[in-house]
Formats: sequence, structure tokens, C-alpha cells
Amino acid sequence: MARFTGRSVLVTGSSQGIGAACARRFAKEGANVVINGRKESEETKALLAELQAMGQRCVFVAADVGTAAAAATLVAQAVEAIGVLDVLVNNAGVERSSDFWDTTEEDYDLVMDTNVKGPFFVTQAFVKHCRAAARKGAVVNMSSVHEELAFPHFASYCASKGAMRMLTRDLANELAPLGIRINNVAPGAIATPINRHLMDTPELLRPLQAKIPLGRLGQADEVAALVAFLASEEAAYVTGSTYFVDGGLSVSYSEQ
Ligand code: NAD
Repeated sequence: MARFTGRSVLVTGSSQGIGAACARRFAKEGANVVINGRKESEETKALLAELQAMGQRCVFVAADVGTAAAAATLVAQAVEAIGVLDVLVNNAGVERSSDFWDTTEEDYDLVMDTNVKGPFFVTQAFVKHCRAAARKGAVVNMSSVHEELAFPHFASYCASKGAMRMLTRDLANELAPLGIRINNVAPGAIATPINRHLMDTPELLRPLQAKIPLGRLGQADEVAALVAFLASEEAAYVTGSTYFVDGGLSVSYSEQ
């Protein structure tokens, strides 16, 4: 199935994990893809070569999404390299863990700048591009089950994903008249480098798996499949909502 032939997609934070899986999925389905990370690395070079081998135009643009200026430059460079953008996936995200009372301003700013300010201003630049080019568009934000579920010791992360939920609901209204849809994807526990410590620590992993109705962590390409659906024309009547991909974690029931 080639749902994205002739369309161009920007995936932020796509050097590894869920972002890289999204980039692969879009390229497999025929899209030109712009991948992004803070800087070029062996990983980004290898991923780019893999995507280009699929036959589409694919480029890497280095940018830290955490400032408005870098967000605007990222979109401008993506458009310059690839001609036009139809889909934006705001995937870049970080988390920091600490007791609430020990959380530093530096860690708070890193999480909020990457997870909220980044998507806010990258989306703004994307919308300006769509308006100037008189094109429709689709935005998919990588939220988390923690836009809904509490996660003690990750207060700034929860605040950032809660903010993303409301940003999406609000923008769905403002962007609909422009023909731009926007939705959130909320993964549960996915096997990516962000969870390396969890995956390497059986005493943490086992109780988590026991809480997940489907009994396992998710895979990055299972998240990418939902992202691709929401970005595609098959989701033409879908905007302003959050879609969970969490093995049932957010509805899990314990009799204790
Ligand atoms: P990851 O750490 O494996 O990858 C994150 C990517 O974002 C990396 O490519 C990193 O280089 C990039 N990045 C970080 N800060 C950036 C910045 N300022 N500018 C540009 N790029 C930046 O994480 P992942 O598990 O693939 O997570 C991707 C997204 O999914 C994040 O938004 C995360 O909050 C969300 N998420 C992940 C899980 C999970 O279990 N893995 C669950 C829920 C939500």
C-alpha cells in the first residue's frame, strides 16, 4: 500500500526509536521524508541511507526543536530541501525523573522546551508553510499515556504531555478551516532507547508487564502504524483527538 506517494513528511526527533520507525513507515509507503535530530550522527547517516535506498527523496536536517527560531529554520530548511511539506510528526521528546521537590529548573526547561515549546513552534512554522502554499496538511503529535495517567517522579513530563493534549484539542478548531487536521498518539511503554534502563531491569519490567493487559511492551513500528493512519487520507474525518497505543495500559483493571 502506498498511501503517501507524492507527499512529503517531516518527523522531528527521528534519529532512533519511535521517530525512526515513523520515518521508515512513511518512506515504505512512498513519502519523501525529512528526518531530524539535534545533530548528524552515525545513526542518522545510516537511517538516511536506508530511506534513500527505498527510492524517495529523503534528507536530514539538524535542529534542536526547543527554540522558536530553530523550529522555524527546521521547517524552512525542510521545505527548501524537499519542495513542500504535507505532514508533520512532532515526535521529539525527552523525560527527566526526580522527586518533585528536587526537580531543577534546568531539567524542567529541557522537558518543557522539547515537549511543548518545540511542537508549538514547529507546528506554527508548518501551518505558515501550508497557508503560504495554499495546501492542506496533517499534524500528528507524539503524546503519551501520561497525558492522562499519573507518573509520580515525572511531574514535568506529565505536565508537558498534558499540555500537548490541550494544544491539540485547541488547534483542531483553529486549523480545521485551513484544511489542517491535528491528532495525538499516546503510546504506553514502548521498547525504545528511552526505556533502556527499564528493559534491562527485570524487577522493574515484570510488574509493568503484569499491569499491561496485552502483557508486553509495544514496538516502535506498532506506534508508527497508527501515526501513518492518522496522517493519511483514511483519517480525513479525524481531528482533535488522542489515540492510545498502549496494550490496554490506560484501561487496565486491578482487583486489589
Ligand atoms: P528516544 O529517546 O528513543 O528518541 C527521542 C528522539 O528525539 C531522539 O532521536 C532524540 O535525538 C530526539 N530529540 C530529543 N530532543 C530533541 C530536540 N530538542 N530536538 C530534536 N530532536 C530531539 O525516545 P522514543 O521512545 O522514541 O520517544 C519518542 C517520543 O515518544 C517522545 O516524544 C516520547 O515522549 C514519546 N513516548 C515514548 C514512549 C516510550 O515508551 N518509548 C511512551 C510514550 C511516549
